[in-house]
Amino acid sequence: MLSVQDATDRILSAFAPSGPEIVALDQALGRVLNVPVTARLDHPPQAVSAMDGYAVRSADVANLPARLKVVEAIAAGTLPTRTVGANEAARIFTGAALPQGADAIVIQENTEKDGDHVRVVDGGAAIKGKHIRTAGNDFSQGAVGIASGRRLTPSDIGLAAAMNWPWLTVTRKPRVAIISTGNELVQPGETLAPGQIVASNGFALAAFVTACGGEAINLGIARDEESALADLIDRAAGADLLLTSGGASVGEHDLVQSVLKSKGMDLDFWKIAMRPGKPLMFGRLPMSMGALKVIGLPGNPVSALVTATLFVGPALARLLGQEDVGPRIVKARLGIDLPANDLRQDYLRSVVTEDAQGPVATPFGKQDSAMLSALSRSGGLVIRPPHAPAAKAGSEVDLVRLG
Ligand code: AMP
Ligand code: MG
Repeated sequence: MLSVQDATDRILSAFAPSGPEIVALDQALGRVLNVPVTARLDHPPQAVSAMDGYAVRSADVANLPARLKVVEAIAAGTLPTRTVGANEAARIFTGAALPQGADAIVIQENTEKDGDHVRVVDGGAAIKGKHIRTAGNDFSQGAVGIASGRRLTPSDIGLAAAMNWPWLTVTRKPRVAIISTGNELVQPGETLAPGQIVASNGFALAAFVTACGGEAINLGIARDEESALADLIDRAAGADLLLTSGGASVGEHDLVQSVLKSKGMDLDFWKIAMRPGKPLMFGRLPMSMGALKVIGLPGNPVSALVTATLFVGPALARLLGQEDVGPRIVKARLGIDLPANDLRQDYLRSVVTEDAQGPVATPFGKQDSAMLSALSRSGGLVIRPPHAPAAKAGSEVDLVRLG
């Protein structure tokens, strides 16, 4: 059986970043930047006031109180018309351009109006540059604001807009086709006949793909019949990646691998030394199927999502051109004692809390790979390497953060 690391390396080596696509700024949240965002202008374009108050010469307010003649009022969006001379001030509002002659702002709270004059009272002493945003203080034309490979956040969108871009070049979303398999499966909301269960993997995996920045194409459920499975697989042509769930073991009804092989799939590997998720499969379909890559996930819902986190997430990150392909692994301390591990790498679903020293991970007593309720309450997966010795509560472990 392959190690998790070897399996990851083999999957990652099969994927390269997709091409670029241009999207309007309001469609760019969560997309991965393909071309760096550089400033098309200086910001602010000229020196502006950072406060409501008076633009003054700092020398005139060195000794207080001071009485200054107000020569004009400058609102944001209008330009000053006068130079501020000795013992003069200009009324100014936040974001308005600084007039010539002025080198400081006295905030409104430290002034009193006095006809066409203003009196600067105690506390109003303003040193040179006070409350002034100089030209290019945030960024200068040509400065790189956002590096390519970054997944865009709301503040990135704001920065790109401020840098005067109405559209951005992002990486095309990976298209991920998803097929669920099993005679026992029915869609959520249906009435279940005896022996049936609700199919959850297709929804969970589609949500996972979406959360990773991909485009999920849920092709539905194939019955455990070769022709049904073959039909759905054909519909996946054109995707970057096909995910199947279930039918991956050695039972007579586990047809995924044999049907894929009948379609010319080149099997890269099957079975990993991990728990949950041992029957994971990876292969490549031929050019006639668009050189589609296939990750065959286990049917058990926890196994499907844990293996998606470890292998599908990184594959999508590689397709998206992200530098860090994850998964996100942090150090944590165990909340309970754990026994020694066997030859498979364990991923223990765990409640994660924080104390003064950082995250504490407490694995659930029951690690059943069908228990979605525990996975849903898990903040992370404690990694137990093959043959790890027994570990005491408080000892350090690697934790895959979830969510
Ligand atoms: P299999 O690999 O097909 O033997 O599936 C393993 C287990 O996962 C079985 O108990 C299946 O009923 C269950 N299973 C398979 N597919 C799904 C699915 N889409 N949603 C929920 N459970 C599933
Ligand atoms: Mg099955």
